[in-house]
Amino acid sequence: MAVAPSFQPLLVPTIFPVIEEMTLKQLFRNIIIDEDTCIAWLKSNGLLATGMMCKCGRIMRPGTFSGIADGKGWRCPEKSCKKFASMRIGSFFEDAHIPLTELVGFLYFWADNLQTTAFLHKNLGWGEHTITDWKNFVRDLCVEEFLVNPQPIGGPGHIVEIDESKFGHRKYSRGRMLSGQWVFGGIDGETKDIFMIPVQDRSAATLVPLIQ
Ligand SMILES: [Zn+2]
Repeated sequence: MAVAPSFQPLLVPTIFPVIEEMTLKQLFRNIIIDEDTCIAWLKSNGLLATGMMCKCGRIMRPGTFSGIADGKGWRCPEKSCKKFASMRIGSFFEDAHIPLTELVGFLYFWADNLQTTAFLHKNLGWGEHTITDWKNFVRDLCVEEFLVNPQPIGGPGHIVEIDESKFGHRKYSRGRMLSGQWVFGGIDGETKDIFMIPVQDRSAATLVPLIQ
């Protein structure tokens, strides 16, 4: 059953510029119409694999299977192998037992800052634990993205809001995560640019040079 994914999924944060441009009308009309349309959209945006290599070296074929997430996946055409894999393998949705349409809806709401538990529960029907889990997961992915691509912000006349938080060390079972890393970050009130820097501690000796 286990097949090594043959692609690197895009980081979830890289999809947000696309989602932020989208209207709710476009989301409902063009993307979350049904699971097939949603899968096609996720593939075209690099969040699901468009091809899969079997461990035996053969290119797997897409197919419909019962008893597998989304009822769709990949099967090896090699007669002596016949391995199959979920459509979600190697993606950020791999371990989630939630329809992809709902997950895309969640990403849309999250990107639009509609993140209260009451709102997400009402609109997605998710429980509090699931909501907290996915909010933390996506937030941590965004933090990781900013840590990989930090950028200085601010300058004369720009007001920069700064804060420090501890990210990671959570128990969700998907994705890579930071192990309880203190992160110092800020947002430029004018340009909305964000920076985040991992720090050893929260002492003035550590933080003041970063602010300057
Ligand atoms: Zn195979």
